Amino acid sequence: MARKPLIAGNWKMNETIGEAVVLAQEISNEMEPDWLDDVDVAVCPPFTDLKPVYTVFEFDKLGVGVGAQNVYWEPSGAYTGEISVPMIREIGCSYCIVGHSERRQYFGETNEDVNKKVCALLSDRTQPIDPIVCVGESLAVREEGSYIGFVDDQVRAAFAGVDAEAAKSAVVAYEPVWAIGTGRTATPEQAQEVCGAIRETLAVLFGQVAAASIRVLYGGSMNEGNAELLLAQPDIDGGLIGGASLKARSFVQIVKAAL
Ligand code: PEP
Repeated sequence: MARKPLIAGNWKMNETIGEAVVLAQEISNEMEPDWLDDVDVAVCPPFTDLKPVYTVFEFDKLGVGVGAQNVYWEPSGAYTGEISVPMIREIGCSYCIVGHSERRQYFGETNEDVNKKVCALLSDRTQPIDPIVCVGESLAVREEGSYIGFVDDQVRAAFAGVDAEAAKSAVVAYEPVWAIGTGRTATPEQAQEVCGAIRETLAVLFGQVAAASIRVLYGGSMNEGNAELLLAQPDIDGGLIGGASLKARSFVQIVKAAL
């Protein structure tokens, strides 16, 4: 089954509202609307920028999606500082990053937390928000050699209790921690090996048909120079882009590489 690629920018904790509007407008100006027939594009800014950035793309009638970088699994209540699925839905988010390695590393997010967030996002599909579920091994795990098993465990934990129909809406992003923000990209072969293994795990969990329709992205120092070869791999259906998504021209070049 042909999967439509997805190029998603993770802006992390960058861009004030004014800066975010400028960056979104620059991206909009650089994009040709008909590209979106062949590639899905989204940016994931900080919560405070979501509505202004959504409004830029809406005004330009450009189908670039907006995603949150995190969400809490309860719909409302006494959870100071958290943001719920209905809240990001109301803003117009169509994606939400879940389980990014920085959240796991700095904020203690566990596989169980990731699973609750995935379930919360997939439970109401009236105005869908597709989770972009991040998995990936540390350098120590890579060097020790058990990275396929490590990532397999993360995928199984993230999707515990999810049925095949719901899982089809999810996106998995393989992001080796040693490649994030380091300039050290996985080779296309390294990335394909793990993305292929992720698809095998998805097939075990949800069957071949569902696994063939779930997009698996690569993330980790992807840029306009290395995107084409990474995106040419059979099990890599797009990219989750950090640093390079903060420069409109670089980000749009990556989008072009996915066409
Ligand atoms: C990320 O944070 O998801 C990421 C892939 O970052 P970078 O592209 O900067 O490595």
